[in-house]
Amino acid sequence: MPIHEKSLIRPENLREQESLDIDGIDVSGPWSTFIESRVVNDYNENLEDEVSAFPGGSLIHRCWQCGACTNSCTVNAINPDFNPRFWIYLVRLGMEQELIRDKDIIWQCVSCHKCTHVCPRDVEPEGVMKALSHWLEYKGHTPKSNSMHFDEEFYSQVLKTGKIEEGRVIRNYFNRTSQPLFQNWLIRMVKGMIRGLPFVLMIKMGIATLLRPKTRNWKASSDAISEYLDERVEERNSVINRTDQQEGKHGQE
Ligand code: SF4
Ligand code: SF4
Repeated sequence: MPIHEKSLIRPENLREQESLDIDGIDVSGPWSTFIESRVVNDYNENLEDEVSAFPGGSLIHRCWQCGACTNSCTVNAINPDFNPRFWIYLVRLGMEQELIRDKDIIWQCVSCHKCTHVCPRDVEPEGVMKALSHWLEYKGHTPKSNSMHFDEEFYSQVLKTGKIEEGRVIRNYFNRTSQPLFQNWLIRMVKGMIRGLPFVLMIKMGIATLLRPKTRNWKASSDAISEYLDERVEERNSVINRTDQQEGKHGQE
């Protein structure tokens, strides 16, 4: 029987006999390929709940593993190791250690939403990929990404003022990530924007940068959003704490 998706099998688990003769038939090399059996004893039984608790991950339980997301994926077309279907499979099985082996490519999702468009089960795999990246950061498997810094700066401004001012977002984002403010791509982009913008609009944007206006009566809305976010964070933390407690309990056994 052929081995499907051979790329998903770790090379160290594939075995071949250099020289093997069975009943007079030479089955050396690839003809004798087999997968070494292994015992997995480090399941995280809460892994699916943990990923579900992050924004975008709540529909992961609906996946039926059809593979349409991976087939349509922009990044998979360039790098076959980038496989959303496989990662959803690992999460649902609780195979955390296996998942972590791909931590350096999971974040490469470009949020093109092709997978979400084709998914027959409305899993919203693009959201799941985002949830997975945030989960990896939260658990300390990867450092906080630049995109996470950007998100934090963006929503902190929205919470404070009810709107965003692009210049301030970019400036604070560069500060957070220790990047220089004057970068060639940014200078080129700003020059292009200025050329196409009406003069009055530029004046208004300049004034907004200096005065930092707020949306009228924003405090009540900001409080409601903050309360909602705090509740979600509390829920997420309680799911992760449950895992930590179980791991602690298992460690004492
Ligand atoms: S397309 Fe949807 S149902 Fe199919 S494997 Fe991907 S996430 Fe699962
Ligand atoms: S959103 Fe991410 S996972 Fe989905 S198709 Fe695009 S790159 Fe692939």
